[in-house]
Amino acid sequence: MAGVAVHEIGIHHVIKELDDVIKRHFPDRDPAEIELHGSPIWGGRGFWRKVEPERRVEIIKDALSVFRGPSRANLRAFGMVVEKAVVSPDDPVEHAYEQMCTRFDKYLRRIYNRRRERQRGLIVVDKSRYEDTLQGLAHSYREDGTRWGSLRNLSEVPLFVDSRMSRLIQLADLVSFALWKKFEHGKMDLMLEIVDSFDREGRVYHGLYHKRDPGRRCDCAACASRR
Ligand SMILES: [Zn+2]
Repeated sequence: MAGVAVHEIGIHHVIKELDDVIKRHFPDRDPAEIELHGSPIWGGRGFWRKVEPERRVEIIKDALSVFRGPSRANLRAFGMVVEKAVVSPDDPVEHAYEQMCTRFDKYLRRIYNRRRERQRGLIVVDKSRYEDTLQGLAHSYREDGTRWGSLRNLSEVPLFVDSRMSRLIQLADLVSFALWKKFEHGKMDLMLEIVDSFDREGRVYHGLYHKRDPGRRCDCAACASRR
């Protein structure tokens, strides 16, 4: 599960930069018609069927490069990688979501501690992927915000939106795809584009979480930074 934290003053710019990636590759198309989702782009499905493979990879990398572009100060990536067997019988999606909320809250708290700048976080979730699993969780979260410790800096409930309507959710989807390639297939190339963009403090990655079998050594950025 991946997330993108974006400061409200940066939202417009991030969206524009992503639209510009599409315009650059498809100057004749209306960017609003083209969605950026990792799996169909990589696999060449739907609209992407007629686009050559090299170009499709380039588009994913270009989109992920917003984390290093002019918007970088307003943008952080979050990634929760959970091995299902390790959290069983708990639901891995719930587990990942709890970690995501807690870590986003801590990120906002650090901004406050550092700059005395009070920020409220609003969580916007991909409706088609997560609504069924997380709707119940959202309810208990509202009833008892202390379930995962106190999430003081987040607004009370997540908002579910259609990812077709949100370029930022599409960006989170690309981050999630990069994580998938790295952790499921051992392919680092997309992850390398964004590894510096996960929330961190010094060497320690707070924005990247890897729940794995503790007996197995892992050299991912999250595990390595905590050794
Ligand atoms: Zn790891």
